[in-house]
Amino acid sequence: MVDLKGQYEKIQNQINDAVIDVIQSTAFINGPEVHGFQKDLENYLGVKHVIPCANGTDALQIAMMGLGLKPGDEVITTDFTFAATVEVIALLQLTPVLVDVDINNMNISIDAIKKAITPKTKAIVPVHLFGRAVNMDAIMEIANTHNLFVIEDNAQGVGASYNSKNGKQKLGTIGDVGTTSFFPSKNLGCYGDGGAIFTNDDTLAHTIRGIVNHGMYERYHHDVVGVNSRLDSVQAAILRIKLTHLDDYNAARQNAARYYSKGFEGHKNIIAPQICESCDCHVFHQYTLRIVDADRNALMQHLQEQNIPCAIYYPIPLHKQKAYVDSRYNEADFSITNQLVDEVIALPMHTELDSEQQDFIINTIKDFLNK
Ligand SMILES: *Cc1c(COP(=O)(O)O)cnc(C)c1O
Repeated sequence: MVDLKGQYEKIQNQINDAVIDVIQSTAFINGPEVHGFQKDLENYLGVKHVIPCANGTDALQIAMMGLGLKPGDEVITTDFTFAATVEVIALLQLTPVLVDVDINNMNISIDAIKKAITPKTKAIVPVHLFGRAVNMDAIMEIANTHNLFVIEDNAQGVGASYNSKNGKQKLGTIGDVGTTSFFPSKNLGCYGDGGAIFTNDDTLAHTIRGIVNHGMYERYHHDVVGVNSRLDSVQAAILRIKLTHLDDYNAARQNAARYYSKGFEGHKNIIAPQICESCDCHVFHQYTLRIVDADRNALMQHLQEQNIPCAIYYPIPLHKQKAYVDSRYNEADFSITNQLVDEVIALPMHTELDSEQQDFIINTIKDFLNK
């Protein structure tokens, strides 16, 4: 699905030097590279505060802790995402409220959010799924009307932007707080685990900086219950280099997506993602097709037999996962996620795809469906 080796080989010398420098400096924890990366990412995103942490799941949890959400508060999020999003809500004893998605973009449905709001609702967690921007103007309007926090889970869309009413903004910097993951296969991936939290709110940033460091604002004074969640210096040094390539990496993904979508154009069994030529609202963390009126599972098996990697994100909607079933849910309210789990298939998507590989993938899929 990804080609991390091919990507590494192109920046090998830079990366190797940076890693060796950190090792020789022995500043492994909270070293200058961590602070440098934080500043670089603040500049890149145009956000006042970046707080690095250990991974994207921690980032979400810490963001919610920082907002002071209390057990029993309801948090609305999408039924169609990686489990981390809902897991941290449940871990903090908040009440997850899963809602359906929009068939056109697979992101959280604005109408479904409106229907799910109760007096206990305190926050919305939009996920920019597969790297595609949620309609943030609509989210912020709902949040302002109902006085809710917005936590953007931008683990899949770092570098993408959204043309909001207030102009162009990077995803993750529009809500009260945003989070991302530097898991190796993410658009900005390190060589291990990493994550970060973004906010323009000085007070929230201060609170979060304490939470990531055992609740300390002054050494050995623990004012709040915190966690230990750090990005290490080796990962930060790698990320500083990779950040300088992020726009090129995302452009390579967009080009590959355009090539796929052109190849699938007009096919009766394939609904390919829309390509936006005028903005960067989709950075294709995944390139996900919908297969309609055909056997998606048989196609998947055929691709595997041809040694073409493919995957289903996500095979089971969250509301059906044992850990997150809730008697208040009504199956009829999840008609789109229930449909999508049978239709979606994600194709290889990374920065090193070439047209020969893509032609083979496109033709294999079309030949199978035309049989
Ligand atoms: C990857 C991912 C996360 C979690 O990130 P980790 O760094 O693996 O903890 C959270 N949310 C979404 C949508 C993700 O894709």
